[in-house]
Amino acid sequence: MWTREADGSVIDEATGKIIFFSTERFVNDICLGDCCFICGAKQGEKEFNNEHILPEWLLRRFNLFDRVITLTNGATVQYSRYTLPCCADCNSLMGDEIERPLSEAISGGLDALIELIKKTR
Ligand SMILES: [Zn+2]
Repeated sequence: MWTREADGSVIDEATGKIIFFSTERFVNDICLGDCCFICGAKQGEKEFNNEHILPEWLLRRFNLFDRVITLTNGATVQYSRYTLPCCADCNSLMGDEIERPLSEAISGGLDALIELIKKTR
């Protein structure tokens, strides 16, 4: 069963996961805080390993780990440190469901990419 909190966020009572973040909660917990950007878990409540904004397979493929990216605000960040707070569970799920299939499709050329598109229809 899902319940709506006073701030408008929606919680799955069975898992305790946040199904929908209110704008206020998203800004406070994710943008300004250090909670998992997917499920909202707080640091210290569970294991965190953070998510690379540009996937590790992409950094590895183009040897970017030690290179620096310049952000639109002029700040520079080493690619290897360009991450978002993410719990290990969400990071693993994203790796299995999104990053691995996408990296295999891109690495496999046009035929592999077409197969991925057919699977996701
Ligand atoms: Zn999470």
